Amino acid sequence: MEKYFIFDFDGVIVDSFALSLEIVRKFNPTMGADEYRAMYTGNIYDSIKVQRVKQPIEFDFFKFYAAEINSLAPIPGMSELLKKISPQGISIVTSSITKIVQDYLINYKLYSYFDEILGCDLEKSKILKLTMLQKKYPDKRLIFITDTLGDVLEANKLHLDTIAVTWGVHEREVLTQGKTLAIVDTLNELGKLLLSK
Ligand SMILES: [Mg+2]
Repeated sequence: MEKYFIFDFDGVIVDSFALSLEIVRKFNPTMGADEYRAMYTGNIYDSIKVQRVKQPIEFDFFKFYAAEINSLAPIPGMSELLKKISPQGISIVTSSITKIVQDYLINYKLYSYFDEILGCDLEKSKILKLTMLQKKYPDKRLIFITDTLGDVLEANKLHLDTIAVTWGVHEREVLTQGKTLAIVDTLNELGKLLLSK
């Protein structure tokens, strides 16, 4: 069965955690890094609802996020990896806004590697977006690549093969609480897994 890749954006393609935390602190000055990190053990939008993050975080958050995200370069080596695997097909499922991610990818000349970007403006639940791709590619083996336990758990509900990376929000110890094919520390390791038969 041919593989098809689904990439998370924040924390996988670009390390945006410090930026996101800085923005959240504009509205919630006492938010700690660990507390914010813990919000990603579930769907981030559910966490925003139940935790003490002041509204309207989403709108204001993305205004600041859009202004800064392009100043953060992709993880070194990401462009080469995407180029190698793109013939098999890659889409992005993200909790960020589609247009912002699209502009970022265009800016770093990565856009042509992706089939589509499914952002929070389409749907907040990653489960629903991953399901859309499962329906779209019934004959392919979908592999989801992400950096948070929340994403891993959403993918687990769909029995979707998932690889977790440790260069994003969550460290290995947290990621092991979900079911993954592998947890990788380097882009090199990720590349080997994705390109293997
Ligand atoms: Mg992420």
